[in-house]
Amino acid sequence: IQASFSVIQEDEGPVNGLITVLHDVTEREKIEQERREFVANVSHELRTPLTTMKSYLEALDDGAMNDPNLAPRFLHVTQNETERMIRLVNDLLQLSKIDTHDYKLNLSWVDLGPYLHDMIDRHEIIAKEKDIHFIRKITKHATFVEIDQDKLTQVIDNILSNAMKYSPEGGDVTITLLHQGHNVRVSISDQGMGIPKESQTKIFDRFYRVDKARARSVGGTGLGLAIAKELVHAHGGEIWVESKYKVGTTIYFTLPYSTFKGEEA
Ligand code: ADP
Repeated sequence: IQASFSVIQEDEGPVNGLITVLHDVTEREKIEQERREFVANVSHELRTPLTTMKSYLEALDDGAMNDPNLAPRFLHVTQNETERMIRLVNDLLQLSKIDTHDYKLNLSWVDLGPYLHDMIDRHEIIAKEKDIHFIRKITKHATFVEIDQDKLTQVIDNILSNAMKYSPEGGDVTITLLHQGHNVRVSISDQGMGIPKESQTKIFDRFYRVDKARARSVGGTGLGLAIAKELVHAHGGEIWVESKYKVGTTIYFTLPYSTFKGEEA
């Protein structure tokens, strides 16, 4: 706490009073601390792919370029790292737009059931590679909600890709859509390694990862769920996780729903 004192006194007369102003600086200090951590995280996340690329480019320059076995492999690594940096910078730009409110939701009425089926269909090919089965528990009732389709696609993409990334080979990923009073609720469950209790509130924080090395090796930026959280909130919904370590994870989110408006749409 910061304190400042002013004496109330006319000319050289008697002291009439004393004003004390107390500023709670803990909140300001916390924001400043978060900002410093964020900058440190961004720098670190950018330096890692850059140093990898540098060493592979040096090796190519030192002769690997003329080795028909090594050259394509080394180039492939630098390409992967470049793609990772582009993903990271795109995610950062998007978060910065959200933070400065420099974006608009492009709203339209969408029937969420068919929309979810389409999204899942688009992930089937990648899922097959890992022998992952999608189980669809999607209500057949019309579920019209007013959403920004691109933004919601990004939310579901992030959650669904995580479910697949952290799933074991041959696992089930269950997608559920149900009506719940004034909300619709979407959930995506996997049979992956789960998230330890102490990490569950943190996974929506920027750059938080349960297992840094593993998350990087599966290509994550650590920003997917932070973006999902912001976008769900922008739609007036909530997002949360339920997870059991070594059993699996479910990410839930809700969107406001009105039967009346839905029918009108
Ligand atoms: P990342 O790009 O690293 O996946 P996210 O913001 O999407 O970043 O997720 C943050 C962290 O939450 C991940 O690094 C991972 O540790 C954990 N996580 C997210 N989804 C799952 C899941 N389905 N199962 C297990 N851990 C998960």
